[in-house]
Parts: sequence; structure tokens; C-alpha cells
Amino acid sequence: MHQRLELLITLHDLDLMIAEIEEAGEQEAELGFAAPDMVELWANREEVSAEIDQPTLRHYEKLRERYGRPVVPVTRGICHGCFTALPTGRAAAHAGNESLINCENCGRFLYWLT
Ligand SMILES: [Zn+2]
Repeated sequence: MHQRLELLITLHDLDLMIAEIEEAGEQEAELGFAAPDMVELWANREEVSAEIDQPTLRHYEKLRERYGRPVVPVTRGICHGCFTALPTGRAAAHAGNESLINCENCGRFLYWLT
């Protein structure tokens, strides 16, 4: 898989984990529990995002603000962010996940599930 895509998916996973813990943490805070592993997750996030080029990272952050999940899979030529069918030629050409592709409709980063 393309390295930048792999980094984006890793970043995306970290962001989802952080969001989940933050959400759970708000409830647990009332019960007196500390949020677990947040420091480590943030450190990981820093590390991963440092390896992604600035324009891609900016686009990612913009999408994250808008949608929450900026990286989505494609199956049967359908974007799982907006459920729009992608042009078949485009999908076929990039089915190897060789480069970063954005959905023409919603703009999310796409990866092809094999
Ligand atoms: Zn889309």
C-alpha cells in the first residue's frame, strides 16, 4: 500500500481512538477515573503527522472538522463516506492504492479494500 495512505489511515485510527477516549473520559471524569493512555496516543499522533506532507495534512484536518471521518474505504466502486459511485475508470486505475485519491463528491481520502 502507498506509504502516505498508510500514514493517513494510521493517523485516522489514532484520531478515532482519541475521540472515543475523550468521549468516554468525560463520563469517567465524573466518576474519578483518569483518561487512559492519552499522552501516549497524542505522542503517536505527533509522530505520524510529522511524516505527512503539509498540504495533505491540512486537507485531512479540514475534512476531519467537517466529517469526523476523513479517510474512508471504497467497495464496489462506492465511496463509504458519501455513498456515491466513483467513475469506474478512476476506481480501476487506483485500485492498487498507489496514490492518494480523494472522492470527487465529498473530498474524503479513499482507500480500496481488496
Ligand atoms: Zn465521497
